[in-house]
Amino acid sequence: MSRPLVVVTATTEIIRGALRARLNAAYVEALEGAGLVPLATAPLVDPAAAVELVQRVDGLVLSGGEDVDPRHYGSARHPAAQEPHPARDSWELALVAAARAQQLPVLAICRGFQVLNVALGGTLVQDIPSEHETSINHAASGRRNERVHGVDVQPGSRLAALLGATSIAVNSSHHQSIANAAPTLRVTARATDGIIESGESVDGGWWAVGVQWHPEELVGSAESWDRDLFAAFATQVRSHANRVCRVPRPGRRVAS
Ligand code: MN
Repeated sequence: MSRPLVVVTATTEIIRGALRARLNAAYVEALEGAGLVPLATAPLVDPAAAVELVQRVDGLVLSGGEDVDPRHYGSARHPAAQEPHPARDSWELALVAAARAQQLPVLAICRGFQVLNVALGGTLVQDIPSEHETSINHAASGRRNERVHGVDVQPGSRLAALLGATSIAVNSSHHQSIANAAPTLRVTARATDGIIESGESVDGGWWAVGVQWHPEELVGSAESWDRDLFAAFATQVRSHANRVCRVPRPGRRVAS
């Protein structure tokens, strides 16, 4: 049986004088390790392509990266917020809308969690250090796989069930976070300073889970939490693949 395909979003960035598509390899490795075949896509111009793509795959991973343009949630840009990436914002917002329409499983990581929240009607904290009193440095500059702060997970949530834990520790590489959660997004975890660290869809049976930390950097650690998160996503992806009956492409012979 063939392994299911999942889209993982890449960004574009000027590197050595040329605009290039870029994705941290840790996402690819974590998804392959969970038994999936990841397909990295840089932003496309035509939002209709998001629908076409989502119809051909069985999962979507929204990766980390730039700050979302605050105009997408009706705010002016804070001085500490980064220069927006309009093409990436538009493309990923279109992907979330398409994924929701198709009930495609979504794993949303860091910026991806913020995109998911904004796409569903929520808002963001634009700069934690200037907007939230805390002793935690959420933009830790150390090793990306270092667990630097605690997270309390809400009992009874999907996240608590799949982790098998309500108290974990995570890495942290963000200066923004969810402010108001979207109406169909339930907050399921907070850092010990109150910053929202996870949320999940309560929109019917749609499996969409967002985390503010970087589980893809932690799948090799002694604790099983982050491997369990990717494994739970892979289970949903396989279930979607079994549920969706795709019409064979014209001209392709189908074994009887
Ligand atoms: Mn954090």
